[in-house]
Amino acid sequence: MTFQDDAAIERFVREAHLPPLLVALAQATGDLALLRDDLAPDPAHDRDPQGGMTADQRSAARRLAVEALKGLRDGRVGGAPVSDPEVLRRMMTFMLGEPVADEYLPLLLEELAVGAEDGRAPDWRKDTIDPGREFSVAVIGAGMSGLLAAHRLQQAGVPLVVLEKNHEVGGTWLENDYPGCRVDVPNHFYSYSFAQRDDWPQHFSPRDVLLDYFRRCADDLGLRGAIRFGTEVEAAEFHEDRGTWRLMVRAADGGSETLEANVLISAVGQLNRPRLPDIEGREAFSGPSFHSAQWDHTVDLRGKRVAVIGTGASAIQLIPAIAGDVAELDVYQRTPNWFMPTPNYHDAVPEGMRWLLTEVPSYGRWYRFWLFWRLVEGVLPAARVDPGWSGGPDAVSARSDELRAMLTQHLQAQFADRPDLLEQVVPHYPPLAKRILLDDGTWVRTLKRDHVHLVTDRIEKITERGILTADGCERTVDVIVFATGFQASRFLMPMRITGRDGVDLHESWEGNARAYLGMTVPGFPNLFCLYGPNTNLVANGSIIYFAECQVGYVMGCIRLLLERHGRALECRRGVYDAYNAAVDAGNARMAWGAATVNSWYKNAEGRVTQNWPFTLQEYWQRTRQPDPGDYELR
Ligand code: NAP
Repeated sequence: MTFQDDAAIERFVREAHLPPLLVALAQATGDLALLRDDLAPDPAHDRDPQGGMTADQRSAARRLAVEALKGLRDGRVGGAPVSDPEVLRRMMTFMLGEPVADEYLPLLLEELAVGAEDGRAPDWRKDTIDPGREFSVAVIGAGMSGLLAAHRLQQAGVPLVVLEKNHEVGGTWLENDYPGCRVDVPNHFYSYSFAQRDDWPQHFSPRDVLLDYFRRCADDLGLRGAIRFGTEVEAAEFHEDRGTWRLMVRAADGGSETLEANVLISAVGQLNRPRLPDIEGREAFSGPSFHSAQWDHTVDLRGKRVAVIGTGASAIQLIPAIAGDVAELDVYQRTPNWFMPTPNYHDAVPEGMRWLLTEVPSYGRWYRFWLFWRLVEGVLPAARVDPGWSGGPDAVSARSDELRAMLTQHLQAQFADRPDLLEQVVPHYPPLAKRILLDDGTWVRTLKRDHVHLVTDRIEKITERGILTADGCERTVDVIVFATGFQASRFLMPMRITGRDGVDLHESWEGNARAYLGMTVPGFPNLFCLYGPNTNLVANGSIIYFAECQVGYVMGCIRLLLERHGRALECRRGVYDAYNAAVDAGNARMAWGAATVNSWYKNAEGRVTQNWPFTLQEYWQRTRQPDPGDYELR
């Protein structure tokens, strides 16, 4: 531990999240007495940075932490046996303030990386299973999931190629470079488990920092040699006789080529094709217009009158970022959002917290698990529908109603001086029916600015000069920005994927994408989707966590193919149908499935094609390894 005097340690501890710090210190010192029952956080305050600890509890916890840190600094090192389930359970129960089901213990052990730096690395290599077999994997996309798949394949010594349409890695973080773009899941959770950083400059990194992270991962993990940039997959066909996928790819110079691989992994994500709104006259506008994910940096917004259509996750970041430059800003809101008060949304990680993350072994890991719990597992109960709920359509249960009341109060407090705006911004649908957005006051301040106009009248059409709303008002503007989301339910489009017997994937889905565990589809052997159907999270969990579960599972499937000398691994229809029935039933019991509010989670028929309705632990459990009985292996 780098030397710090007592005063510095006391200062640093003031910046820590105390529940995970106490647990990490108990682990480092071996002194489990640090986990005093009277200091345990209150699980009802799952969003509070200190877990709802009272001022007295915080003072006592800080005193304990300071003494423990001084001991570590002075060389008094102990160490608690966290591999002992009783010790681990005690630590987890203390940190979360409530007893947690035992199923979480193995997941926590893996997350804490006890005993191994990278507990999720494949524990096998192709050359020890079937060294002589010619076998390769093609991965489509070098974004977050594609890089991860490439890394695991390389670790297992499986020959691979990554086909990336862009000229750089990063996927969504490369393409989305609109002003203000940043992640809305804290980075200590939104990062690979095997590439943790204890020096994230901000809690929620801006886009450039994230893009740099993925670039550095590609460099440090030696992945670039496996990536073919500027190469777009147009079509893929499965050849049963050879047990291979034949890919038709187009290079940036327009030349086309055919490649072959035994396994095809789609890592194209759910949010990679921008969706322009179906508004009459969109082409008629005479000024510049563009989508948030295709930001036109040649257009200078300074002094211009700008309209932004949409108030989703992208819009609420870009609107405050451009508001200072433009002359007038019209914000077209169709549906208001719920906002979670997040005071540190734009904050730097303070020096003291960074020091603690660097110096206290395992603080970062416990902090990560703390985020995992507070952001998703602990929040899910508020999204579950109580079938007996009779309290109205703005909530789905008493717990949901409590959250609604808390979020409403927050809006009321912030818009107390602007009742006109308050009326427009309070949603009338249950929280978690759509993703809850984060705000530290920036969004609210922006809406209150004199030159920013929130427009909630329905858009009738786009004209040559601006936007005409249903009340007959035409607002003229110089530039229109479409922050209108992505063609999310058109999974894997526009690629043509042809499986066994010439069946087309999109025709077989009929606009209703499904996959077993979000990854495999009957009739399409050796094809695996990452971030496929029903693997999105509404509560702000980390998609990287999901991708790690998926890639681990796909590696298990590849191992099966190699060990059993199989040509084709195909999901059984009955398994797929039963799974999807359970997912549909699960989604129907969640706020995002039950509520009638529009969202990108549902396809044109109203079925939830995007979301995972159960806990993160359950997905981890179900994807730990493939059950050979779920597949036909030929
Ligand atoms: P989005 O959440 O789908 O928001 C699209 C917005 O456009 C909504 O306000 C929608 O209104 C509006 N809209 C769509 N069509 C319209 C029309 N015809 N007329 C008027 N308004 C229309 O899209 P997004 O903001 O790009 O975000 C998509 C997802 O990307 C997010 O949910 C999140 O998962 C991810 N994302 C993450 C981050 C991050 O981590 N920082 C940032 C951006 C995006 P309605 O609500 O009425 O449909």
